Amino acid sequence: MSIDVLLGDAANLPVRAWRVAEGELRLQFAESAEDRTLRCDGCERRHWIVQSHVHEGRGALAVRCHGCGRASELFFAEVPAPWR
Ligand SMILES: [Zn+2]
Repeated sequence: MSIDVLLGDAANLPVRAWRVAEGELRLQFAESAEDRTLRCDGCERRHWIVQSHVHEGRGALAVRCHGCGRASELFFAEVPAPWR
């Protein structure tokens, strides 16, 4: 069982790796090797609708809570290299 991280805290931390397991979003942040499970700071649930995309040249994850609809974006630690 991994430690929870609240959505409001996760939005400030660069993400190194992520995966969805049983509807829960597992995150590894750049500063720590441990898995964290994203938890909603609105309704306390851990189920998310996740979409990866590029936002202003950076990789990002758009997340939306299944329970209360709270939404945010998480950013990846690595900035993708420009296409040459
Ligand atoms: Zn929620």
